This record gives sequence, structure tokens and C-alpha cells, in this order.
Amino acid sequence: MTTDMIRLGWSDFFEQHFEPFRQQDLIPARVAREDRGAYLVYYERGEVVAEVTGRFRHEVMSRSSFPAVGDWVAINVLPQEPKARIHAILPRRSSFSRKVVGGHTEEQIAAANVDIVFLVSGLDGDFNLRRIERYLTVAYDSGANPVIVLNKADLCADVSARVAEVESFAFGAAVHPVSAIENSGLDRLLPYLGIGKTVAILGSSGVGKSSLINSFLGRDRLAVSAVREDDSHGRHTTTHRELICLPQGGLVIDTPGIRELQLWTGEDSLQGSFQDIEDFAGQCKFNDCKHTHEPGCAVKSAIESGALPSARLDNYRKLQRELLHLEKKQAEKARMAGRGSRKKADRNDQTPR
Ligand code: GDP
Ligand code: ZN
Repeated sequence: MTTDMIRLGWSDFFEQHFEPFRQQDLIPARVAREDRGAYLVYYERGEVVAEVTGRFRHEVMSRSSFPAVGDWVAINVLPQEPKARIHAILPRRSSFSRKVVGGHTEEQIAAANVDIVFLVSGLDGDFNLRRIERYLTVAYDSGANPVIVLNKADLCADVSARVAEVESFAFGAAVHPVSAIENSGLDRLLPYLGIGKTVAILGSSGVGKSSLINSFLGRDRLAVSAVREDDSHGRHTTTHRELICLPQGGLVIDTPGIRELQLWTGEDSLQGSFQDIEDFAGQCKFNDCKHTHEPGCAVKSAIESGALPSARLDNYRKLQRELLHLEKKQAEKARMAGRGSRKKADRNDQTPR
């Protein structure tokens, strides 16, 4: 195992799974960007644009089986041209996925093989405990380790009170107040950015994700939003990478899918994060108990006895409602997209709001 490979995040786990491909004279590479079926990949000797083989395309059954940013793939570099073919994807150690609701529900991978995820919030007007809890849910669902980053500490009068608040429900995840603008507190994030560690940065628009990445890079690698909006060329120029090697030795994943992350996850992820509620619910008299007025409701009696804080149930409900809302929205979006040519006609008889 060479240091270059370790820097890209290679490990014993991948080495083991790569064995059969090595015998076919393939080499490992990591996906840094995807653009309409063309993948920019990093490998031991640099980077190259790769496409999946015809056979791969033929055999793949679902969207989630296509390479995603962060994936390790088995490639061969074509001898005559600077191009490569992707033959297979190695198993993912973690993945951030979203359900794409349409005719049938499909899973789409936004980022793979993330070790640590920075859940970024702003310590300004944006501060929202419930949103942090939601991001935690998504993080635990992915298999990556969450670290809570509270940015814009320079705008907050009582940072330690905020930190204590967040810590109280963070299930042991570390909480770090920082200021990307003032460059303070960032040293506490350095241990997560060690050699070969892959970090994804999650958070709503405007919390300072680009500013943080820029501080790590030590230069204006990504335009911050104020600039970005005026940039008619958009962010995704040909040189843009979504898997970025940091001078600290780690890698950061910054994909639009990760940026736009809202509530991708389905019902499954609610379990786990609300295991306490699930456990009580298992003891309710009726197995379709809504925990409202049903007789023999174990959740209600746990709240009455103080075994379960009622705020937990409130959060659980809000999260469920939001999931439902999101799925409806996605279904609606899919329906609109499917209408195709009729769209134009519809626009004419739109009534003003
Ligand atoms: P992103 O959308 O999450 O990538 O956020 P940006 O990095 O583009 O930052 C959004 C805005 O917040 C910009 O105007 C930044 O200058 C500002 N910002 C970022 N970090 C900080 C910080 O630590 N303190 C303050 N006061 N402003 C910040
Ligand atoms: Zn119940």
C-alpha cells in the first residue's frame, strides 16, 4: 500500500475487496466528480476521466449501483488515450443516499465512503436545535461519524450555553464552536482531517460550508455565496472537483447532493435515532397505536411517568410529518417532470397567486 493511495483514503478493507480485480490487471481509483456519465477519478498516477464499461451498464440494475463521488472503483487506463474504463465498484463503507420518489422509488447515492460528517449550523439567527437533530439522524443513517460544528461563533453572545444545549441531545457526538471568518476554533477540527480521512460537510445554505472548506484549503478555492450568485458560469466549471484533497492530509466531499440535503431518508432512519420511542411503542396494546388516545399506550404512560421526555415524542412527530411532506413534494416533482410537453400549455392558464 503506497502513501499516495493512503492519502486518497485507501485501506485494508478496500485492499481485501480489490484482490479479484488485481488479478484481472485492473487498478483502484476514487471518484472525484461525475458529469453525465463521465467520471473524473484519482488514482496512483494522477487523474483520468473514466466511463463505465458496456458490460457494467448492462448488468447494473439500479441507480444506486452506479459510481458516486467517493466510491472506489476498479479501472483500466486505455493505452493510447488519456481515458479509463470502470469495471466495478468496491463495497461502500458508508453512503449518503436519497430516495428519489417517482414511478417507483429509487435510491440515489450522493456520497460514498465518508468517514466523518461535519454537521454545520450557524450560531446566528439560523440556529435551530431540531434541524441539528434531523441532520444527526441522517448522519447515523449513513454510517459516517457525526461531528457537530457550530459556525459563526463570532455572532453569538453565549456560545457555551448553545454548546451545552446541543450536547444535551447529541448522543455523545462532539460539538465544536468555530468561526470560519475569524479563523478561530478550527484547530479543533484538524484531528478529523488526518491523512486519508474523508469528511463530508452538511448544513443548510449560508451556514458557512464554503468558508470552512476555504479555511482548510487556506485560499479561496470555492466562491462563497455572495460571489457565487453573480457568477453566470456557475460553480461547476470543468476544473471543479467534488472530492477535494486538503493540505492537512484528509479529503473533503462537497457535492450538490450533499449540499442540498434536506430529509432524504425514509422511515427506516427514524428508527435508531428514536430507539427509545420505538422500544416503548413495542409495548403498546395495539400495534398500530398512534400514541394519542389509545388505551394501553406504553409511550403515553412512559411520558406520564417521566421515563420519556415529551419533547422527544414531539420531535419524533415533527420529523414524521416532515418526511411525509417531503415524499409528497418529491412525488409531485416527479409527476410534473413526467408531464413533459404539456407543461407549456399549462403555464398559459396559470392564475396569479
Ligand atoms: P455555505 O452556503 O454554507 O457554503 O455558506 P458560505 O460559506 O457561502 O457563507 C455564507 C455567508 O456566511 C457568507 O457571507 C460568509 O461570509 C458568512 N460566514 C461564513 N462563516 C462565517 C463566520 O464564521 N462568521 C460570520 N460572521 N460569517 C460567516
Ligand atoms: Zn402507543
